[in-house]
Amino acid sequence: MDKQTERLERHQVDQAAEILRRGGLLAFATETVYGLGADACNGTAVAGVYAAKGRPAFNPLIIHLPDLAAAERFGVFSPLARKLAEAFWPGPLSLVVPVREGAGLSSLVTAGLDTVAIRVPAHDGARALLSAFGGPVAAPSANPSGGISPTRMSHVLDGLDGKIDGVLEGGDCDVGLESTIVLAGEDVALLRAGGVTVEDLEAVLGQAVARPEDPDTPKSPGQLASHYAPDAKVRINARERRADEVLIGFGAVAGADLNLSEAGDLAEAAANLFDMLRQADGLARQQGRSIAVSPVPMTGLGLAINDRLTRAAAERR
Ligand code: AMP
Ligand code: MG
Repeated sequence: MDKQTERLERHQVDQAAEILRRGGLLAFATETVYGLGADACNGTAVAGVYAAKGRPAFNPLIIHLPDLAAAERFGVFSPLARKLAEAFWPGPLSLVVPVREGAGLSSLVTAGLDTVAIRVPAHDGARALLSAFGGPVAAPSANPSGGISPTRMSHVLDGLDGKIDGVLEGGDCDVGLESTIVLAGEDVALLRAGGVTVEDLEAVLGQAVARPEDPDTPKSPGQLASHYAPDAKVRINARERRADEVLIGFGAVAGADLNLSEAGDLAEAAANLFDMLRQADGLARQQGRSIAVSPVPMTGLGLAINDRLTRAAAERR
């Protein structure tokens, strides 16, 4: 079921913002690479990003905003985080900070974590788009999963034509490298090397930045982001609910406590996944029960949903 991918010229920023507003998928240039954007407050739109990229797992996405003031509406900035933002934004630095309560971000953006990665890009076209849209745009690189990050509009179309709603022309990307990602709270730790060097960061901070090779730092963002895992025991592919279980259904399941998507829609299920795991965990804890989840088909977004559920069923601390 292919879509018509609209090619938008640089000046067509309002049309591009409109695509985001109606929950569509829009590729746009930043100074690092082309991003595949969706309204970060719209869970179904964010699910569409994973579907278009064919990502087999939900890892948290970076949200893009026009300035620090806008960023502070979605994240909580420590003095160090603010120092970095003031020195390097707009630019190729993403800051992972605690998510602001009630900010309205889809839990699929943060993969259910209580932190969020935020960036203010320097590219003129990206800034114009973000200002016109007026909200947070979740955007990983605009390429099929496992592919090379696109630095030209033609690369985006090579990989995603017919799978996304539009692409906003923005020339070739200057940096061509992904953003540097740091965890910024009481201390600063490097999660991914990128466009801004650790030496640059340390010069501004006047203190050391923990490197991934330090024993106290998680080896990769993926590890640090040991994505939201319920406390309760989880049984997957459950065809029935046992007496001591909270059932998360999928499709037309009778007697489910929660349902990822009664219509059996995988994008809706993806959008609900982390919230419902959390809710089910709360219920299970209150009532001394465990969690069961109905089978979710292994097609399209079902791969990433099952990846998350399989981990939840395996993760025991
Ligand atoms: P991409 O959007 O493909 O450039 O990748 C985003 C990167 O940011 C991934 O490696 C994520 O693991 C990392 N990331 C995003 N949000 C968080 C977060 N809340 N905590 C840790 N890492 C994050
Ligand atoms: Mg990528």
